[in-house]
Amino acid sequence: MNPAEKRKASTIVTAKNVDLSNCDRELVQFPGAVQPHGVMMIVDEPAYVIRQVSENCVKFLGRPAEQLLGKSIEEVFDRSAPQMLNRLRRVSLENGPVHVVRESFAGSTRGVNIFAHRCDGALILEIEAAGTRADAPNAHLYSDVREAVTALENTHGLQKFLDLAVDRIRNFTGYDRVMAYKFAEDGSGHVVSEAKRQDLEPYLGLHYPASDIPAPARRLFGLSWLRHLPDVDYVPVRLYPEFHPASHKPVDMSFSILRSVSVMYTGYLKNMGVRSTMVMPLMKEGQLWGLISAMHHSGPRQVAYEARMATEFLSHMVSLLLGAKEDADGYSERLRMAAVTDQLVEKLSRNSDFHDALGQAERSPNLLTLIPATGAAIVSRGNISQIGSTPSKQELEALATWLTAQPETVFATNRLPEIYPPALTYKSLASGVLAVQVAPETQEFLMWFRPEHIEIVNWAGDPKKPVKVSQTDGELRLQPRSSFALWKESVEGRSEPWRNDEKEVAANLRQAINEVVLTRARQIERINRELADANVELDSFAYVASHDLKEPLRGVHLLASFLQRGLEGKIDEQGREQLDNILKLTRRMDDLIESLLQYSRTGRLELNLTTANMDEIVDEAISDCRHSAGQQNVDIRRPKAIGFVTCDRVRVREIWANLITNAKKYNDKINRWIEIGSEDSSPPRYYVRDNGIGIPEDARERVFEIFRRMHGKNEYGGGVGAGLTIARRAVERHGGKIWVESKVGEGSTFYFTLAPEGLS
Ligand code: ADP
Repeated sequence: MNPAEKRKASTIVTAKNVDLSNCDRELVQFPGAVQPHGVMMIVDEPAYVIRQVSENCVKFLGRPAEQLLGKSIEEVFDRSAPQMLNRLRRVSLENGPVHVVRESFAGSTRGVNIFAHRCDGALILEIEAAGTRADAPNAHLYSDVREAVTALENTHGLQKFLDLAVDRIRNFTGYDRVMAYKFAEDGSGHVVSEAKRQDLEPYLGLHYPASDIPAPARRLFGLSWLRHLPDVDYVPVRLYPEFHPASHKPVDMSFSILRSVSVMYTGYLKNMGVRSTMVMPLMKEGQLWGLISAMHHSGPRQVAYEARMATEFLSHMVSLLLGAKEDADGYSERLRMAAVTDQLVEKLSRNSDFHDALGQAERSPNLLTLIPATGAAIVSRGNISQIGSTPSKQELEALATWLTAQPETVFATNRLPEIYPPALTYKSLASGVLAVQVAPETQEFLMWFRPEHIEIVNWAGDPKKPVKVSQTDGELRLQPRSSFALWKESVEGRSEPWRNDEKEVAANLRQAINEVVLTRARQIERINRELADANVELDSFAYVASHDLKEPLRGVHLLASFLQRGLEGKIDEQGREQLDNILKLTRRMDDLIESLLQYSRTGRLELNLTTANMDEIVDEAISDCRHSAGQQNVDIRRPKAIGFVTCDRVRVREIWANLITNAKKYNDKINRWIEIGSEDSSPPRYYVRDNGIGIPEDARERVFEIFRRMHGKNEYGGGVGAGLTIARRAVERHGGKIWVESKVGEGSTFYFTLAPEGLS
């Protein structure tokens, strides 16, 4: 601001000239006037010559302004001048008013306290009437302060701490009401703690709009540790002359004790029935966190300098301890969340499916026990887990799609409907959302929801009408509100905001999931590799062993046949039977070895994939089974053509042949039929259905195990129990699945696919 502007701004702010254009400027620090309970002097250094003085000097110093201007301090304060000058030269005057001396003039019973400080290069003396003996603080002030500080130090939790602070400050000041306010980011504030005279209406919990304490006033509150307004109904006293005669500057009263306050402020206080106030800033890390505000309703109240100092000291201590108390509150919550994160990660390491590990409502801990919210969800493609109150699955999917386009890895808002209009329909459940995308390339989200918080804002008046058009001149005027009736405003589509530590916890969990999932994926990859190696080894072993076994077996079989022929007619019945048995056993052993070879072949050999006509393959398989065991008169039904498919036709022919053979074998009905076909699904399902004996439920998995037969060796045409195992291996080599559905006594359907799920 240049001097001309400053001069303009320094005009006393009165109810007449306050308007929107000047209220939010810096003028509150240049009021050009003081409160009447003291005198202000602007003194030139180094000679300490008085250049400006407030017009009420007669009352305090017994001389009018004209007689003081141009005089030195020594001439005016003759008795205490040496002490005063000594103090002025020795103490630092740059950090706000310091007490210089107490002076009692001859004939006056009360005396004055003199304070001094420097601001914008000017030395400002403030002379304030000292308290009478009755308001003098008691002798226990120091021990009372010490006790209060110790008690404050020992409290746990921010709320208890503030409650104690306002209570002790009320004791020191004797005010009717002492409150602690906390400012929100937008400059509005609310009363977080209150100590008051019993009969007064409580203000605890009331919210105040930012315009109640405009930015310049907030800045000033942050500059001095205590602002005292003994009488709200005061008449401001001008400085004389208005500007410094040499610099022509208005006096910057940012730090002064007597600064006259804005009429907006006094008007506002009067509306609240307040007669006197004392305001102390609550600072945290150099920022204005809130205020302690003392209000007296019963009448004007001037607090003696000593009690004020004690109060100021106490509020200073409150500020110093405030950060630690608030952080301790946050710290214990952070500890809790960290412990829950650990438990969740531990669960995840046992079960890497995070729907199971984190999204089970009935199992604690889960997502919802981690971060305070009313609902949580895990949204993956085709799989959604919901805990608590959340939007519907469809709405969650749409939200996830929208979130994918958001750049943040941790997305948090407490006004979702404002930025994502579809949320309007479910704002009562989810006006606030905190979401993390599990991994960049996935569409998987962890989400937390908070409901619309129809905030009953108890504004101390109507925040939408801080301005009124004046009746008299039609100008826009800032009008202190005329009523203090509770005024409620619903703030729609907003939830409680998400705290930074909550966002951090969500981000940590995301990282942990990624780490666990990655570790898991690596483990699975390794196990698969080992398994594949082991399978290859096993197959080669089976191949070599069966191959090598075949030769001696052929020898045994040959020798037994020779014996049978050579001994024809020479041995008895029993001997012949035994030889027969040897031959049967060698044949069976040969079958077993042959199946083992086929099994290992199916595992070892590369698939020879071609596009083949499946109906032709089925024809060939049926012909393979023509002479197989079982009844021949079976009705084979083929409802529709299957068509072409990419596969290894030799392996697939084996699959069909095994299934068709079984369907023919395991059937004891008079009219037997088999149905062969496919169902249109993705991938297509091929099937062989029969009206045979069926398979009991507990055997439906076991039938696929090698050499597992459910029947006696020779029942149902015999067999070694390897057909289904070989079929399963061939199916799995194609990436497909094989399974059976069956009803005992009615029949079975064997299904198989030749491609992984989702592929055709
Ligand atoms: P095998 O037919 O040589 O015994 P498989 O592996 O082909 O060996 O079949 C294993 C077992 O599964 C059979 O012993 C039989 O008990 C049962 N099974 C297979 N197919 C059918 C079917 N279509 N109906 C009833 N049971 C069957």
